[in-house]
Amino acid sequence: MDTFYTEEQRQLRDSVRRYVEHAVMPAAADIDRNDCFPRQLYQGLADMGLFGAGLAESGGGSDLGTMATCIAMEEIARGSGALGNAYALPVEAALFLQEHGNDFQKSFIPGVLDGSILPASAATEPDHGSDVAAMRTTAERDGDEYVINGVKAWVTFGQIADFIMVFAKTDKNAGHKGISCILVETDRPGVIRGKSEELLGMHGLEDCQVIFDSVRVPIDHCIGPEHQAFKMAMRNFNFSRLMMSSMALGMAQAAMEDAISYAQTRRQFNSPIIKFQAVQFMLADMSTDISAARLLIHHAARLHDAGLPIAKEAAHAKLFTTDMAIKHASNSLQIHGGNGYSKEYRIERIFRDLRLAQIYEGTNQIQRLIIARQLEKEFA
Ligand SMILES: Cc1cc2nc3c(=O)[nH]c(=O)nc-3n(C[C@H](O)[C@H](O)[C@H](O)COP(=O)(O)OP(=O)(O)OC[C@H]3O[C@@H](n4cnc5c(N)ncnc54)[C@H](O)[C@@H]3O)c2cc1C
Repeated sequence: MDTFYTEEQRQLRDSVRRYVEHAVMPAAADIDRNDCFPRQLYQGLADMGLFGAGLAESGGGSDLGTMATCIAMEEIARGSGALGNAYALPVEAALFLQEHGNDFQKSFIPGVLDGSILPASAATEPDHGSDVAAMRTTAERDGDEYVINGVKAWVTFGQIADFIMVFAKTDKNAGHKGISCILVETDRPGVIRGKSEELLGMHGLEDCQVIFDSVRVPIDHCIGPEHQAFKMAMRNFNFSRLMMSSMALGMAQAAMEDAISYAQTRRQFNSPIIKFQAVQFMLADMSTDISAARLLIHHAARLHDAGLPIAKEAAHAKLFTTDMAIKHASNSLQIHGGNGYSKEYRIERIFRDLRLAQIYEGTNQIQRLIIARQLEKEFA
């Protein structure tokens, strides 16, 4: 599958794989069990320079591009879905600040890249998820400050983030054209962290609600032009969907590897179960879909690296990869029989972790809407 990788991409893949197999895989079950942020492993990724893989050298990154970032994500998530999920946050925050931020906001990037500053992003609210434009959080101008009021839900890293990029209405009457993104340091008065979420999977990411109770920030904390954040976020979603696709791909790859090795060693009816056609067909379908997903992701990543629009291609990748990953994680669990239902085997964790992938970064129903809208435009 790596025929078309550059030498640089192959080296990156190999070094991330070594780190993951040596340090991440042995710790992954503990991250899940303890539901505690794996700071040391996160720092390990930062120390390898992975948070700036896709960032231009002028921004402190290594300018390896979207394709390389997707390759790194696949490898990390092959070892731990939760660490893969954590990897997306600094990568996406640094890119967002580099693309839209002013000098003050860009001063956070070095800390994000070296792992010392933890970012978070908050768009979703308890009553407004897919319909982002209907959000209720407001940021009202008061002299040289914004005053932020509202509640954000499901904030990944919410309990530990040093700053949160908060999406809020700066014009309540302008729908999606009235949303701005404001950088809020979490030690400001009025930033209140709610109780940690107890989740099915993806443990260790310190998700919680965050309440903004008359939080004051200077106006230079508005990232990009006022009222333009919806458009900015939608553009950046294309990249983050490739991140989520690569994360699901890495987990699907791990599920397949486990299914094959289990089927080779498990014997029933005097035969390894891999000799049964029903099992063989599940493995063949896994291999086919995983290869197809990788091609979809890499195709979109290459287009993105070439500066071309990828709204449809990123949605294709997210929809197909996350759907197929969940289907095949379930089949891998099936191949494990009763053992698949036990925490003794990592497929149980992969199955739970993966379920999130169809829900966030735009649910898969929303991905279908995006694809259909693009088709309407193309065939107008
Ligand atoms: C563990 C976790 C971490 C998260 N981290 C973050 C984070 O860090 N920052 C952040 O901002 N958000 C985060 N989210 C929120 C996530 O992005 C939302 O859950 C997601 O966008 C869906 O929104 P919702 O949960 O409100 O579901 P809803 O929007 O209420 O959707 C419910 C159902 O209705 C369907 N639906 C909605 N509208 C349509 C439509 N027009 N057509 C067809 N079907 C539709 C959906 O597909 C879904 O099946 C996180 C969520 C979870 C669970």
